[in-house]
Amino acid sequence: PTAEKPITSALDHRFAPTLYAQVGQPRSWTLDTYQRGGGYQGVRRAFALGPDAVIEEVKKSGLRGRGGAGFATGLKWSFMPLNDGKPHLIICNADESEPGTFKDRYLMSEDPHQLIEGMLIGGYAMRASRGYIYIRGEYVLAAERLWAAIHEARAAGLLGKDILGSGFDFDLQVHRGAGAYICGEETALMNSLEGLRANPRLKPPFPAAAGLYGLPTTINNVETFCAATHILKYGADWHAGMGTEKSKGMKLFQISGPVARPGVYELPLGTPFRELIYDWAGGPTEDIKAIIPGGISCQLLKWSEDILDTPMDYESLAAAGSSLGTGGVTLIPAAASIVDTTWNAVRFYGHESCGKCTPCREGISGWMVRMYEKLARGHGQPGDTNLILDMADNIGGRSFCALADACLGPVLSSIRLFREEYDAAERGEVPRELAGRWRDA
Ligand code: NAD
Repeated sequence: PTAEKPITSALDHRFAPTLYAQVGQPRSWTLDTYQRGGGYQGVRRAFALGPDAVIEEVKKSGLRGRGGAGFATGLKWSFMPLNDGKPHLIICNADESEPGTFKDRYLMSEDPHQLIEGMLIGGYAMRASRGYIYIRGEYVLAAERLWAAIHEARAAGLLGKDILGSGFDFDLQVHRGAGAYICGEETALMNSLEGLRANPRLKPPFPAAAGLYGLPTTINNVETFCAATHILKYGADWHAGMGTEKSKGMKLFQISGPVARPGVYELPLGTPFRELIYDWAGGPTEDIKAIIPGGISCQLLKWSEDILDTPMDYESLAAAGSSLGTGGVTLIPAAASIVDTTWNAVRFYGHESCGKCTPCREGISGWMVRMYEKLARGHGQPGDTNLILDMADNIGGRSFCALADACLGPVLSSIRLFREEYDAAERGEVPRELAGRWRDA
């Protein structure tokens, strides 16, 4: 993130922050501060309700996965088998790597007990005995604070045997990744945890049927587990009372690019872009031509009054031809070259492809990267854009996991919305800011 410190939503908003309520408090990462703020009340209520009622509560709250896909959390929890006699596992996907996404980082470094409590609740509901936090390797401070918080929780009887006298045994491990985007794909993550190369696995079977070490496993994002903490503390109705009809609750939106106050803002789902960009982030600092609404894998949206009034929720963004994704909003300046910006995204995907399947290895890492390099360096020729479209047609829906399709989000939308810039690149016109930097390099 561009901001040194995350910025939480301001207190005069009609909804007070919950997920980021502790951020900025003195020593917010300690058990003492967490408990003084009412921490570990959610899990106490969970123990009083019993596991099945906890899953019902999460279903009723309308919580949807905050990693990007928005799958119904309570439903996912209910997929774990009952009375199968096998150990059950849960995993927190903390491999936050989507460009423009930096919300989980602060949840973990500033308020690790909130995540531990959410995983205790999830573990209890899904009859798990062990939980793993797979954290992006670059998040060193967050990993250190998580370990420290786990040690504090163990010493306080909040992890380990017979937690708070409930009869529930549960413990957590933190596992640091080594810097590969593909490790955030849930099945690649499980392979990585097992010590294997992080290639994705075929789905189905979904993790609840055969996950880590072949055992029933459920994987949720950091923000999802943290949201569960508050759902159990304040009740499903409280959560369902915020947001829109189908997109419920608060969401951590991130904003980066040329705005006055980039950072993380906790706002209800359904908040329009305009409110995030102008009221909270202080407005753009230069002319903008496009918005990436929720991480680079989402389709770009052209900057317009209509888009500014679009509510940031799953349904409205699908209707606008994109998706909410991780809620990582990035503004693209009018002065930037769209071909260069997309090349940057394509290079990222090309570099991060695991190389397992041909459409991604040859299509993205090979051809697509080279086509963009050619265009962006001023060597474009007539027909290049159509060739990219043809390649995209052969890659889309044909790769082993979502990585290649994700790359096509910025590719296809940028061509659809800014074809004239591609036409110019085909004529060899190198974008202004690149001239000299790349030409004939
Ligand atoms: P997905 O829709 O395939 O799955 C979402 C979740 O629902 C998974 O846990 C999956 O197991 C479960 N699920 C889906 N269908 C199911 C079924 N029929 N039965 C049981 N479980 C089912 O999406 P995905 O590939 O896991 O994630 C894609 C999203 O990840 C994108 O929307 C993108 O925004 C996001 N993403 C996030 C980051 C990040 O850093 N947070 C990075 C890359 C991508």
